[in-house]
Amino acid sequence: MSSTGKDMKDAYEVVVVGGGAAGLSAALILGRSRRSVLVIDAGEPRNAPAAHMHGYPSRDGMPPGEFLAEVRREVAEYGVELVRDRVTAAESDGSGEFDVTLADGGRVHARRLVIATGLVDELPDVPGVAERWGRDVLHCPFCHGWEVRDQPIGVLYRKASGTHQALLFSQLSDDVTLFLDGVDEDELPDADWQTLASAGVSVVSGKIDGLVVADDRLTGVRLASGREFARSVFVVPTRMVPRDSLLSTLGARTHETPAGPFVDVDPTGQTSVPGVWAVGNAAGAAEQVVNAASAGYRAGAFINAQLVTFDAARGAELRRAGVFSPEGERAVARARRSADGA
Ligand SMILES: Cc1cc2nc3c(=O)[nH]c(=O)nc-3n(C[C@H](O)[C@H](O)[C@H](O)COP(=O)(O)OP(=O)(O)OC[C@H]3O[C@@H](n4cnc5c(N)ncnc54)[C@H](O)[C@@H]3O)c2cc1C
Repeated sequence: MSSTGKDMKDAYEVVVVGGGAAGLSAALILGRSRRSVLVIDAGEPRNAPAAHMHGYPSRDGMPPGEFLAEVRREVAEYGVELVRDRVTAAESDGSGEFDVTLADGGRVHARRLVIATGLVDELPDVPGVAERWGRDVLHCPFCHGWEVRDQPIGVLYRKASGTHQALLFSQLSDDVTLFLDGVDEDELPDADWQTLASAGVSVVSGKIDGLVVADDRLTGVRLASGREFARSVFVVPTRMVPRDSLLSTLGARTHETPAGPFVDVDPTGQTSVPGVWAVGNAAGAAEQVVNAASAGYRAGAFINAQLVTFDAARGAELRRAGVFSPEGERAVARARRSADGA
């Protein structure tokens, strides 16, 4: 992080809350558009437990922390300021702009807000899962599937997620077992038994007692009956809960999704609160790093365009009224520059 809260100015054109792929990508485009931008980041990106990040073209296999450090370096080149802190409140100032409060007590004003706070994965309550999360307890075939191909894979069944993960991982290994964890076999619809059988997935009923670990590696899944199944990977569904408390207090509307309620956004990422954008996992459970970066880019570009249009129109209005202001003159100068093709 390039600055502390103490170095912050009082006001920025855009404040970005959250410095993961989504927030930093918005900041990159806004910085390149010569906007004054502050990124406030609490430093807990979702994929921090994973050693490597996959599926981002040209960065496949890079450690997630290295990736973010590189993007922070890039945005700082364009004058974007970065602060390591947590935003505790964001509220409208009554004029369509915003006041933001930081955990260290600092306050900053923003014309536009980007909420890129990500989400929290609530893990299933199976002993051993939390300790191995992101290492050999996984959730995403696209993030880690290739790395565990052909291995003996266990998948945890939960009604909400169904058999989906077992089927996806069956594309990567011929040795996939679905653990029902105490759910009655009869509760699994016939159609599921058929698709699992056709994909070569075995099914084990019985309550899980916990994961078996040796030499800091997952070696199996143990049932309450004491029976153990050798597995080197365990796939679990998580409950993906957006970090959306700032959005709710700002009054942003939400809608139901299969993963629970997520904020409503238009195609640019703007929420139902004018001037507030939400990007990345804060706005959708399915956003991977590349999608989060893309959403941030789009939001940054639209925020810049909106500010350009707004300032130019306001400057023109002031000019027509015979009032000359630095703001109005800047807008006119910009209009001239573009008319000259500069
Ligand atoms: C174990 C694991 C492995 C994964 N591996 C991959 C992979 O290989 N490839 C891939 O594409 N995707 C992967 N993902 C998904 C990836 O983590 C997300 O797609 C990505 O992190 C979304 O980026 P984001 O910017 O929306 O959120 P995040 O990266 O989570 O960043 C949000 C940031 O906002 C900060 N923040 C939150 N609240 C506040 C606040 N109030 N004030 C200030 N800051 C705040 C957080 O501390 C955090 O730094 C993985 C996920 C997990 C769980």
